[in-house]
Amino acid sequence: MQYELSYWEYDSFFRHLDVAVLGSGIVGLSTAVRLKELAPALNVAVIDRGPLPIGASTRNAGFACFGSMTELLDDLQNQPEEAVWALVERRWKGLLRLRERLGDAALQYEPLGGYELFRSAEKETYQRCLDHLPAFNRAAAGITGSAETYRRVAPEEAAAFGFRDAPHLLFNTLEGQLNTGQMMRAWMQLAQEKGVLWLGGLSIARIHEQAGSAVLETTAGWSFSVPQLVVAVNGFARTLLPELEVTPARNQVLVTKPIAGLRLRGAFHYDRGYFYFRNVGNDRLLLGGGRHLAAETEMTDRFGTTPLIQDALLQLLNDMILPDTKVEIAHWWSGILGIGSRKSPIVQRVSPHTVVAVRMGGMGVAIGTLVGEAAAELAVG
Ligand SMILES: Cc1cc2nc3c(=O)[nH]c(=O)nc-3n(C[C@H](O)[C@H](O)[C@H](O)COP(=O)(O)OP(=O)(O)OC[C@H]3O[C@@H](n4cnc5c(N)ncnc54)[C@H](O)[C@@H]3O)c2cc1C
Repeated sequence: MQYELSYWEYDSFFRHLDVAVLGSGIVGLSTAVRLKELAPALNVAVIDRGPLPIGASTRNAGFACFGSMTELLDDLQNQPEEAVWALVERRWKGLLRLRERLGDAALQYEPLGGYELFRSAEKETYQRCLDHLPAFNRAAAGITGSAETYRRVAPEEAAAFGFRDAPHLLFNTLEGQLNTGQMMRAWMQLAQEKGVLWLGGLSIARIHEQAGSAVLETTAGWSFSVPQLVVAVNGFARTLLPELEVTPARNQVLVTKPIAGLRLRGAFHYDRGYFYFRNVGNDRLLLGGGRHLAAETEMTDRFGTTPLIQDALLQLLNDMILPDTKVEIAHWWSGILGIGSRKSPIVQRVSPHTVVAVRMGGMGVAIGTLVGEAAAELAVG
């Protein structure tokens, strides 16, 4: 829709802005909240093209996770040990900060732990994890303060889940899960309480800088400028800043209808985390992932579901997770991640009036709060 901005709209909503934060996901809202704490007098607006944030923050699995063993072992193949544990620490501290910010009650946070599953054919990988268990617990203790972050799940305990052909499980004792929708409502409420202006339904087509300001050109045909802009659009970053090394990656997700007698509790990772599932309340299951099965179609910033990934998720659900249980699907959706060749986020000033905070690497629930705070400090610093 093309329309012009009225004098009143310009004067009351845009003219006096000091900082515009583009993107109202976890990162954008954390940035805005922190900006108001650092400099309460600043006029801060968070802008999003959607009536709600439409990216990953309202669409994720709600795992409060900081590192499963196979993922970390994979990372250790390509990165120095220090870098791998530094990322674990960033996630751990980020989750603590998120919980401190919004509170466990608002997040509906549940410390149910995180599991990793191994099928019979993956016994070798499982054994490799067991071999590394003592060293992992020593390294993790320096971060979490717990002597036993990781532990093996006893065979009878594993069998109680009723999985088919997944006899081996590892347990991360300190992981948890939260209600993604409630988390975002709490972020929006906190931002409002701090005096942040939220402008939804405003899509930005282009950004550039000109004398003393950043200019945001809307898809409605009009522009406005601000002294400082923070770009927190994660997987959509390249549409505005093509030089950034951020690749969009779609993840497809389902939630079942209520399942009588569902025993499963906790956050489960399978196949190096490419698949993930959890209980939602007492009787529903959320399952997502599988983008590695169709890398060429899933590296996209377009929402949507595809038969190939849907079939793979349903097969996993029916063959391994809940064999012999009749399950109906209530919801399908997709969300867009921002990934790159490195797992670390990009938080930097890219020009005199623009800071970027993007590339959460599929772990923005864990790191997004601190990334947003770092962006706020750069913007006012
Ligand atoms: C299916 C799925 C499951 C996940 N599970 C987990 C998990 O369990 N644990 C975990 O830690 N992480 C998880 N993640 C990752 C996590 O959700 C993201 O890393 C995090 O939400 C990113 O937050 P963000 O604020 O950077 O970006 P987003 O939440 O994507 O927000 C970016 C915002 O920018 C807006 N925007 C984009 N372009 C424009 C424009 N041109 N104009 C105006 N607005 C624009 C979008 O509408 C969007 O609201 C998952 C992600 C997905 C997709």
